[in-house]
Amino acid sequence: MRSRVWMAVGVASMVVLSSAGAAHGQASCADCCFYSCIAAHLQKTAGMRDMYAGLAGRKGLTEAAYASAVAEARQRLAVQEAKAVGGVRSCDWRFPDPKDNLAMKEWQRLGWGLETLDDGRIAWKFRVETDMTKCSLDERQLAKLREIAPCGGIADATGAHERGHLDQCTARGAGTTVSANRMAQDEVEGHNLAIAKLEELREAARQACRKKDGSCAEQGANAAADRLRDVLPIFKATLGKKR
Ligand SMILES: [Zn+2]
Repeated sequence: MRSRVWMAVGVASMVVLSSAGAAHGQASCADCCFYSCIAAHLQKTAGMRDMYAGLAGRKGLTEAAYASAVAEARQRLAVQEAKAVGGVRSCDWRFPDPKDNLAMKEWQRLGWGLETLDDGRIAWKFRVETDMTKCSLDERQLAKLREIAPCGGIADATGAHERGHLDQCTARGAGTTVSANRMAQDEVEGHNLAIAKLEELREAARQACRKKDGSCAEQGANAAADRLRDVLPIFKATLGKKR
């Protein structure tokens, strides 16, 4: 049998567009200004989980069908997340300066990329992967993710997801081949670990918003009304929800 490397890819697999770098230091997620980023990321993660749950139960699921369903959902949900976050500055990722050769070399050593679009914006491509044949995780990717995420907890949610894969892999033994259905089920479990973490973060941010009467000073100062327009509905909907 031809050897294959199945990569279980974490929730952090994404393309993020940016036109300018942001610098607000490594921050705790328990801040009202991160509420919308956490809520949007949670929504995307839950969407991916639901998609994988559908695949897990699909009869005759082929690897090709699995791959195309994942690619479609990833694209669709990334757009949804970007719209939900809008232009809230505190939700920006801290990408390296593309002119900084050293920083860009480090970025590429992680297996990550970038693409400059026609309009001058940059599409940053990065992901955290667990090698499900060797049962290994690239800790450098996770460490970098924590550096660039809007707040550290968002990266930690991905860490929980990927460590879940390590546990699955170790339990089965390195080199064990699994069906596409089983892979989808692995992803359901991995995403559930991330969702649990993101729900905790969202609650902490929600509490912080209550203390500030639901306002985020940074957003108010830096973001124009039109940039917030797409974010406020999700913000209000979740704040108003009885738990
Ligand atoms: Zn995964």
